[in-house]
Amino acid sequence: MADEPIRYYKPKSDFKLDITDIENFVYDMSRCIKCKGCTWVDHTYMPGAKFMTRCPSATKYEFDAYGAYGKMRIGHAMAEGLLDWNEKALEVIYACTLCGACDVGCKRNLDLEIGLTLESLRVKAVKDGVGPLPAHKKIAENIAKKHNMYGAPHEKRTAWLPQGITPAKKADLLYFVGCTASYVNKEIAQSTAKILTAAGTKFMLMPDEWCCGNTLFSAGLFDEAKALAQRNVDEVRKTGAKTLLLSCAEGYRMWKVDYPKLLNISTSDLGFEVVHLVEYVDAKIKDGALKMKKPFETRLTYHDSCSLSRLSDPWTPYEGKRQWMGCVEPRLKRRRGTHGLYAQPRDILKAIPGVNLIEMPRTRENAFCCGAGRGVQETYPDFAKWAASHRLEEVREIGAETLVSSCPWCKNNFAQAVKAGRGDVQVLDISEVICASIQG
Ligand code: SF4
Ligand code: SF4
Repeated sequence: MADEPIRYYKPKSDFKLDITDIENFVYDMSRCIKCKGCTWVDHTYMPGAKFMTRCPSATKYEFDAYGAYGKMRIGHAMAEGLLDWNEKALEVIYACTLCGACDVGCKRNLDLEIGLTLESLRVKAVKDGVGPLPAHKKIAENIAKKHNMYGAPHEKRTAWLPQGITPAKKADLLYFVGCTASYVNKEIAQSTAKILTAAGTKFMLMPDEWCCGNTLFSAGLFDEAKALAQRNVDEVRKTGAKTLLLSCAEGYRMWKVDYPKLLNISTSDLGFEVVHLVEYVDAKIKDGALKMKKPFETRLTYHDSCSLSRLSDPWTPYEGKRQWMGCVEPRLKRRRGTHGLYAQPRDILKAIPGVNLIEMPRTRENAFCCGAGRGVQETYPDFAKWAASHRLEEVREIGAETLVSSCPWCKNNFAQAVKAGRGDVQVLDISEVICASIQG
């Protein structure tokens, strides 16, 4: 009698947050109850019938397969050997911006690891020989040959540097520019360098900057992304930099969250602090080192880039045991997007004279992704354009004249949608707005 298991006895099972093995997420996939809390904006903040969803994939494609709940069911069936990859399954897994809206939504309901499961399914696609998609392969080839995702000449990487600004050979702060600001949106890199200079901060660049590997990681090319992460982290450590500053939200997430994930270390073990320009500027305004002088008379709205908001909680490796009712030990501090940079950009914009900051119905954790990130713009450009157009409808609804974000990917995607006639709004990066105001 004494040896009989108690009614709710369940053997403990291993539990890891390692995305290289989909088996680690069978629990999460199988426990999804299809409640769709991941698709709707949190009910507390539900802005009405017009902008009530937060999953771009489910909103665009309209079939349940494209929502996180569909992806969980497909992934579960694959992990259990009941379903093989096919063209549609591959599209469902990759036509998703990995924006994290479902993840934070689910963590208000079942606390499942949806975002990590979605990443793990892409790693599985690569392992099974069906991923990544051709456009991702082209980017991987560009990175391998030219160290940038565009295949542009590597020797032109610093051609963005504005006249009169020379980075220091040695400084506490290292500005990691990233491929997009180096080659496409040079205005963002130039504005960032001018802001640092105006604040009296000496900055250096990496002696030989390479791509951060965002698309490799996002496409499921784990080993390639890991090798790049190791190389980049080692190079920064060699410089002795205390702070690594980024003006790109996707790069910020890579360095702060996904490099530690790839290298199986904590964010705090990197050996330097990773900050985004908005954190740096916000602190400089508050300590009086930067003053917003020139007025910008406009009705302006701010778009929360996914990688700067709900995807930017720091990473800590986790291994433990799962027990009855899914409880885990040791206690796992879930990443719910609560440490996102929501206040800093808004405080900066409010400090600029003349700016009338108005909010869209969906903000912060509930913001609707611009559609560009995580390998989608290259593989599903119509989806990317559709998502930007949908967000621009929200901008129009509140009557904003200017749309500001903190990421070159968002700026590009919105600007292209505006150019295609999907909106009538000025699209700017926050670095440009700050730079214009401090130079007044
Ligand atoms: S909120 Fe979580 S449990 Fe509910 S449908 Fe979405 S993924 Fe499944
Ligand atoms: S990551 Fe974003 S696009 Fe993908 S399923 Fe989740 S909410 Fe939808």
